[in-house]
Amino acid sequence: MENDLSVFEDDLILDKEASEVLRLANIIKSTPLRDCQIKVGSFFLRGKKGILKPLQYSNEDFQLLAGHHDYIFNMQDGDVELSIQLYENVNNHYRINCFSRCNDVSGQLFSMNLTTEKDAKGSIFFTQKIKFSERIEGNAEVTKAFRRMKQQVFSGMLYKLGFEISETNDLYLGVYDTKTQSFLNTTPEKFISDFLMISLLKGHFMGNKGYQLEILPSYNIDPVWQSSSSLETLFPDKILKKRGNRSIPLSLRFKVLERDRACKLCGRTPKDGIKLHVDHITPYSFGGATVLENLQALCEECNIGKSNKSNQRY
Ligand SMILES: [Zn+2]
Repeated sequence: MENDLSVFEDDLILDKEASEVLRLANIIKSTPLRDCQIKVGSFFLRGKKGILKPLQYSNEDFQLLAGHHDYIFNMQDGDVELSIQLYENVNNHYRINCFSRCNDVSGQLFSMNLTTEKDAKGSIFFTQKIKFSERIEGNAEVTKAFRRMKQQVFSGMLYKLGFEISETNDLYLGVYDTKTQSFLNTTPEKFISDFLMISLLKGHFMGNKGYQLEILPSYNIDPVWQSSSSLETLFPDKILKKRGNRSIPLSLRFKVLERDRACKLCGRTPKDGIKLHVDHITPYSFGGATVLENLQALCEECNIGKSNKSNQRY
C-alpha cells in the first residue's frame, strides 16, 4: 500500500493561496500534451486522450483538472489508463496525483505536494521526496533495504534523465511564480509530460500496478534479498553521495530562479525546452556555502555536465 499521507506534516497550508492554485490549475488544465506523447530517455511513448471509465473520483468538479489530463498508453502488458488529478484534501493541502488502471489493477502511481514557502512569497513548489512503501511480509529488515534500493535506483534514474533531485531524494519538479503566473524553471507542457513520465516509471518500480515497462529491468523481490545477511554491503548508504546537490531551502531556490531566469552557462530558458536546476557555484564538497551569492540557475544538461566534471577529481 502507498502511504503518502505521512508527508503532510512537512507542508504548509495553502488556504490563503487557494485562488492562486485555481489559476495555476487552469493553466495546467488548458495546456495540451503535444501529440499525447512523452519521452523517456531516448524512447517515445505515444498515448491517446481519455480513459475508459473514471479513475478514483467520480465527481470531476472536485478535482481541479476535470479530466483534461486523462490518457491511455498502450504497453506490452496492455493498455495503461492514466489520470492526472489536482485537488485539495481534507487537511487543506493541495496535491497533484497520477492514478492508473491496467489489467484491472488500479491505484496511485505518484503524488506530489504543492508547497508554499514563507520566505518566498508568491511561490508554489511542486516537490516530493522519492520513496517506496511496499511491504515484504514477515521481514522488516529486508523490507527496509528493498525500499531503499528502489529509492536509490529510481532517484539515480531520474537524475540521469535530467531531473533535479537532491542527495536526500527530494525531487524538485516545478516552481511556479504567482506574480508572473508562470513556471520559473519549466513550461506547463514539460511539467505535464514529466509528471506522467515519472508516474509511469514509478509504477514500474512499485511492481504491483498491473504493468511493467519493457525498456527497464524488473526491480521486484529477488531471492538473494531474502537470504542476504549483509544488505549494507549490497547497497551501502554512500552509493548516492556524488549525485545531485545538497539540499537548498525552497526560499533560496525561488530567489535564484527569480534572479537568473536562464541557464548561467548556455543562456537558454525554459522556453527553449530546457529545465532549470539550482546549482552551487563552488561545490558544497569544496566548502561552497548554500547562500544566494554561491548559487546559480543551470539547465539540466549544463548542470549534469558540470557535476560529472567535478566528480572526476575524486
Ligand atoms: Zn545550460
